[in-house]
Amino acid sequence: MPGWHMTSHQSPAQILIAEDDPISRSLLELYLEQGGYSFVSTKNGREALELYNAQPFSIVITDWLMPEMDGTALCKAIRSQPSDRYTFIILLTSQNSPGALVEGLEAGADDYIVKPVNPAELRVRLKGARRILDLESSLQKSLAEIRELSIHDALTGAFNRGYLDQQLEHEIQRAYRYQHPLSLILCDLDHFKIVNDTYGHQAGDEVLKRCVQNIVQSIRHNIDWVARYGGEEFLIALPETGAEGCGVVAERMRENISFHPGGDDNSILKISASFGTVTLLPDPLAVRTSAVDLIQRADICLYQAKQSGRNRVVAEFYSDEQVES
Ligand code: GH3
Ligand code: MG
Ligand code: MG
Ligand code: MG
Repeated sequence: MPGWHMTSHQSPAQILIAEDDPISRSLLELYLEQGGYSFVSTKNGREALELYNAQPFSIVITDWLMPEMDGTALCKAIRSQPSDRYTFIILLTSQNSPGALVEGLEAGADDYIVKPVNPAELRVRLKGARRILDLESSLQKSLAEIRELSIHDALTGAFNRGYLDQQLEHEIQRAYRYQHPLSLILCDLDHFKIVNDTYGHQAGDEVLKRCVQNIVQSIRHNIDWVARYGGEEFLIALPETGAEGCGVVAERMRENISFHPGGDDNSILKISASFGTVTLLPDPLAVRTSAVDLIQRADICLYQAKQSGRNRVVAEFYSDEQVES
């Protein structure tokens, strides 16, 4: 791209400069170099915006009056774009009348410097910008942590009931939209009360955690997911998975979940679980299935698995061919 040049700095550019006046631009570059900042220079708002769209910049220093696209138009363009990171904009102006400042700040600038730029003033303005950006990034980090906490079960790390309700609706919608199957596995630990009664509630908690780890190891990373449905019951969603694939996964899960609790391999007590599965084969002409209906169907299978001796998988009986015909 003609018209702008990279600095010789190796670190990724953080500051984007837009300034049409070569002398003012050179001075800015000199001051930023002296301050140890990395930056990229452009000659007008349009060039700056092109670059801004290609790579993120945390700070933009822009002149006001420039050919092609001026500073306030650049501010507005940057602010009109959705972004997950904040960009701090400093507007350079030769006029410090209150009216001009209001116009510049209303366009989306965070701060301004009256030209000619004084290096000491630039330094403290940038310091202020860094403070705001640091604050913003620690806020983003806290928000991400809170978001994670709000969708996970604190004990097992599986997704919680709130996430399940929301995400399952989402999966069903996607299954119908793309005409993909969706399978669900409902899992209930067998005789879990006995585990608590024998080893205590805390050991029971550890068993729950390990069971979730064993379930997670049985499913596809980042596609399938597991949620804690209730106390010792878990729901596993397998998007884009038909009845046959679901049967294979459920059987693998049944084998993987099994272990002797309390670290005693000779104990007669062995963890096992029963599984009920259901597969949705979306029919665009039929009435849409609900999450409640799907879970209920899996629950009926789970009940049958318990009734017929536990430690087994019962799938809703039909084949893909039968449903499609
Ligand atoms: P079944 O094979 O019929 O499912 O028998 P069960 O004993 O597993 O079923 P039941 O529903 O009678 O008991 C479930 C037990 O799970 C009782 C409850 O105390 C225990 N439980 C539920 N949530 C937790 C938990 O967070 N930690 C521990 N340690 N136990 C829990
Ligand atoms: Mg200018
Ligand atoms: Mg139960
Ligand atoms: Mg149980």
